[in-house]
Amino acid sequence: MRHRAVTAAFTAVALFGMVAAATAQQPITIRAGTLIDGKGGVERNATITIDGQRIAALGRNGEAGGNVTYDLSRFTVLPGLIDTHVHIGTHFGKDGRASDAGETPAEQALAGAENAYTVLMAGFTTVQSVGAPSDVPLRDAIASGRLPGPRLLTSVYQLIDAKLSIDEVRQFVRKAVADGADLIKMFATKSVREGGGQTLSDEQIRAACGEARVLGKRIWVHAHAPAAVRTTVLAGCTTVAHGFQIGETEADLMAAHGTYFEPQTGLLLQNYMENKSGYLGVGNFDEAGYKFMEEAIPLTLAVFKMAVRHKDLKIIMGTDAGAGAHGQNAREIIFRVKSGGQPAMDAIVAATSLNAEALGLPNRIGSLAPGMEADLIAVDGDPLSDITALQRVVFVMKGGKVYRNVAPAR
Ligand SMILES: [Zn+2]
Repeated sequence: MRHRAVTAAFTAVALFGMVAAATAQQPITIRAGTLIDGKGGVERNATITIDGQRIAALGRNGEAGGNVTYDLSRFTVLPGLIDTHVHIGTHFGKDGRASDAGETPAEQALAGAENAYTVLMAGFTTVQSVGAPSDVPLRDAIASGRLPGPRLLTSVYQLIDAKLSIDEVRQFVRKAVADGADLIKMFATKSVREGGGQTLSDEQIRAACGEARVLGKRIWVHAHAPAAVRTTVLAGCTTVAHGFQIGETEADLMAAHGTYFEPQTGLLLQNYMENKSGYLGVGNFDEAGYKFMEEAIPLTLAVFKMAVRHKDLKIIMGTDAGAGAHGQNAREIIFRVKSGGQPAMDAIVAATSLNAEALGLPNRIGSLAPGMEADLIAVDGDPLSDITALQRVVFVMKGGKVYRNVAPAR
């Protein structure tokens, strides 16, 4: 009893201390040379006031008075970037290979924490991992403030097994949600290395998407073959990921149904090429698979260019970053603009407010406005005229807390 009383007293002191700290906290004011709001708006000489973890006000220069906490007037401030498709725990092990063979759980956990830190430092304040059970403790450690990293959403598992009965498909979805999944990840087709043909039946695809919808969860569907993409869209699934084999019909269909399209053209396959020694021989990464991928690079660019011409298609920004690609996520955005013909503003909106919408978080993240989470970054340069500025991140704030500040003082 005595021990409990002491604990309670300590708790009371701790709580009082927190309240006192919170009320004593001064709002943070940031001066931005250029502010990109994530929804298509641009402001010169703006000020952002942050109270606690949220944006309290946006204003023009001077409205903040003299109390500027961070002078970023030589930089461009924009919402923290979002990547809707990563595999946050994947890494090259001690042997340089993209597998966990011979690693302890502790080594694997540290690799996930390292990736999370790397991604945050690169200006990505939210990523969705699709996904592995090890994402859950990482997500929770970051959310509680114990580890630096992006806001993490995870599918926990991946629905791949075509042998499951319709009932088992639904059970899979329910178990993922019970085990903490923020969304469901499903493979409707083979990998691009194996030709991308449909694996799950139309009935299985419909069952998974239907069950996810009943449970109020989003569902990301890996799909290459056009028929599988069409079934995915008609089943009411949230997002078609990859879609390397789609044509005009599928783009129109996704646009008509409001399905998000998450193509990859600038980082995923390039990373496999650049790190061939780490991947070759792991899983389905064989020489034939590498030939497929090499040939697929120009095809993914053609698909992307076709998709961009569909103005009503919601093209989101997910890289599918795995081992070797963490922290390079912005390469996908840069490639889309420089090679894919996407206007820089559209590419930035995709990686911010549109991605937030696709994650079901449009009122929390992805744009700079009063009431939004204070997730913002500053980059050296103007990404609207030079998109590579997104690789020059000098300032990272997430939830009102500064994680990186290498902006040189004047
Ligand atoms: Zn993936």
